[in-house]
Amino acid sequence: MDFPLLTIHDVQEGLRARKFSSLELTAEALRYARSENSKTNAYLHLSEERALAAAARVDEKLARGEEPGPLAGVPVAVKDVIVTKGVRTTCGSKLLAGYIPPYDATAVERLENAGAVMIGKTNCDEFAMGSSNENSAFGPVRNPHAPDRVPGGSSGGSAAAVAQGTAVAALGSDTGGSIRQPASFCGVVGVTPTYGRVSRYGLTAFASSLDHIGTFGRNVRDAALLLQVIAGRDVRDSTSAEAPVPDYLAHLDGNVKGLKLGLPREYLNGLTSETGALIARAVDGLKKLGCEIRDISLPATDYAIACYYVIATAEASSNLARYDGVRYTLRSAQSESLSDMYRNTRGEGFGAECKRRIMLGTYVLSAGYYDAYYLKAQKVRALIARDFTNAFSQVDAIVAPVSPFPAFKIGEKIDDPMAMYLSDIYTITGDLAGIPCMSVPCGQTVEGLPVGMQILTRHFDETRMFRLADAFERAGGAQN
Ligand code: GLN
Repeated sequence: MDFPLLTIHDVQEGLRARKFSSLELTAEALRYARSENSKTNAYLHLSEERALAAAARVDEKLARGEEPGPLAGVPVAVKDVIVTKGVRTTCGSKLLAGYIPPYDATAVERLENAGAVMIGKTNCDEFAMGSSNENSAFGPVRNPHAPDRVPGGSSGGSAAAVAQGTAVAALGSDTGGSIRQPASFCGVVGVTPTYGRVSRYGLTAFASSLDHIGTFGRNVRDAALLLQVIAGRDVRDSTSAEAPVPDYLAHLDGNVKGLKLGLPREYLNGLTSETGALIARAVDGLKKLGCEIRDISLPATDYAIACYYVIATAEASSNLARYDGVRYTLRSAQSESLSDMYRNTRGEGFGAECKRRIMLGTYVLSAGYYDAYYLKAQKVRALIARDFTNAFSQVDAIVAPVSPFPAFKIGEKIDDPMAMYLSDIYTITGDLAGIPCMSVPCGQTVEGLPVGMQILTRHFDETRMFRLADAFERAGGAQN
């Protein structure tokens, strides 16, 4: 068994042919994660006991001749902003260093019901705020392709775990790009579904109107299957959609002939030359598959970063108010009064980026500024969504870069929040519009740094997005 290269299909075949048991595979996954983690710091903790118990259940089912589920025995990693019963969930924050949730997120529950084996919780930027994983209170994650570089963020641990081969697939969360950008930097597939496609029950809130749970895989099929399992209405999240979940895999037939694809001109300006060349080559590849490429315009793109950093910080300032030292969190030891205790706990517990966002968010929501900033940003958000609606009246899908540049050096942008925020210029718009979007590997720079291509489709049209990504992958899209 070559564990680091396994796909979900390999796991299914191996179990069925009795090449290994789920317990053997899980033991190997845990051993490998333990031995490799010092190279990347992708995991904050492994959930050995829970993993072995889940694996034993799969083996029992197989022994009894029962159907063990579509993800039977598949070792998965879960971003540490997603709560897991009895397994520490820190959100990358010192404040929650000791937090053990009393319940499971719906997505985790569904994974395990489908037979998946959660082997550990992955590192991330504190409360998912960041683009490089350097905002974790537990140290940065290193990119498996280049250890002096970031894996992207905020789901950097999940992307690195899949790229490094310590997990076959993973869950992440995306508010402004946190799945697609690390997927692009680490050379794996990353999927942000339509807003409401996956229940947010148990996803620690950052900016509730933008937060999505999504998936990582080593190929399009795996990421699609994981989404298939976790998607669908959940009564515990009133924003989760009633829309039926199609069988994504049934549509992966490689046929994309005649598909009209839009290439937004606003997304091609600020690319490094290597990223630009790889995207141009990917677009050529899509043409060869029979797609028709059209030049389109998404004119409100210029305002996306400003709009996002008003809305996301406003919502974050309100969501983070719950970490007060009374519930969930560590409590500052030396406080004379209640307000002192709040102040000290939050002052000592939150990292710099969270504090910056709490201040910014509180400011834009304050009386007198609400109309000027928050309300204005909501209007701009509507314009961004309208751009997509207009575009989708002319094309079936949009293709674009994920990030203007490949993985950057650890430390390179950490002192310049504006430069860091620009990492997400092409991903934030998809979240603001709530449409499905994903990153699929499209090659490597001369230094060997992966680059991803982004695909975006209409609300709830994940099927078409996966079909296009899968056809591109099959045609050897990532080969230089
Ligand atoms: N990098 C963006 C931010 O810092 C997006 C984060 C995310 O998607 N969670 O807010």
